[in-house]
Amino acid sequence: MILKGKAALVTGSTSGIGLGIACKLAEAGADVMLNGFGDVEAAIARVSGYGTRVLHHSADVSDAEQIAAMVNQTERDFGSLDVLVNNAGIQHVAPVESFPVERWDSIIAINLSSVFHTMRLALPGMRERNWGRIVNISSVHGLVASAQKSAYVAAKHGVIGLTKTVALETASTSVTCNALCPGWVLTPLVQQQIDSKTQTHGDPVRATRELLMEKQPSLDFVTPEELGDLTLFLCSDAAKQVRGAAWNVDGGWLAQ
Ligand code: NAD
Repeated sequence: MILKGKAALVTGSTSGIGLGIACKLAEAGADVMLNGFGDVEAAIARVSGYGTRVLHHSADVSDAEQIAAMVNQTERDFGSLDVLVNNAGIQHVAPVESFPVERWDSIIAINLSSVFHTMRLALPGMRERNWGRIVNISSVHGLVASAQKSAYVAAKHGVIGLTKTVALETASTSVTCNALCPGWVLTPLVQQQIDSKTQTHGDPVRATRELLMEKQPSLDFVTPEELGDLTLFLCSDAAKQVRGAAWNVDGGWLAQ
């Protein structure tokens, strides 16, 4: 229960990685503000299973005003915001020449600018209490590129730069800021990419295997629970000198 008495906000936590991380934070004793779209009730029910207070804010994180309302409400309802996990993200796959401009703008807003806004708004309270943990979910695509993912790769590289900057600005405090860089995790975001490969190959098992073989030598998916455990480690005292890291969890993707 290392987070007993602490409050967490996890953006994009109604699904996939964010939901997995929210469960681990609640299991460790944190009150959790969920955020995101889709089956909100199911997400609240799942995270509530650990006995801490669980709320949901419907902010669209592409909008700075809605982010401000979400951070304010978290601090008001729980009394503080101690653990901030920036996880909300979307993907679009297309060559740069035909990349839809509105998709570029949405990806930069949701995957990158939202991280700036939540951090600038959460940091004053963390500094005041002299304790905070910020975990930004970047990607292996924050460290290397893949074709046809220009906006995503640009945003995820940006998240790592932003993480390092905030880590330096908070270096002499008990607030830390780090990034996680997952490889393939089997979530709705990746299922869409498997589905489009399946349309070419006609076989979902073969499409999944090809997706893994292309990049991830373990040939196995990273799980949201593994990323939740690593987030908890970053919240622990043992990690207080881990600052500005971009920690890959990728089945060997970046070792090649
Ligand atoms: P997902 O599609 O399962 O979940 C995305 C979450 O973000 C959902 O809760 C969704 O409602 C929310 N969301 C989307 N747009 C939003 C908006 N405008 N405002 C608020 N919430 C919004 O995806 P996932 O795979 O769990 O991805 C989570 C994060 O992990 C993303 O940042 C993604 O880039 C990153 N990531 C995923 C993988 C992977 O293989 N799945 C790998 C590396 C990094």
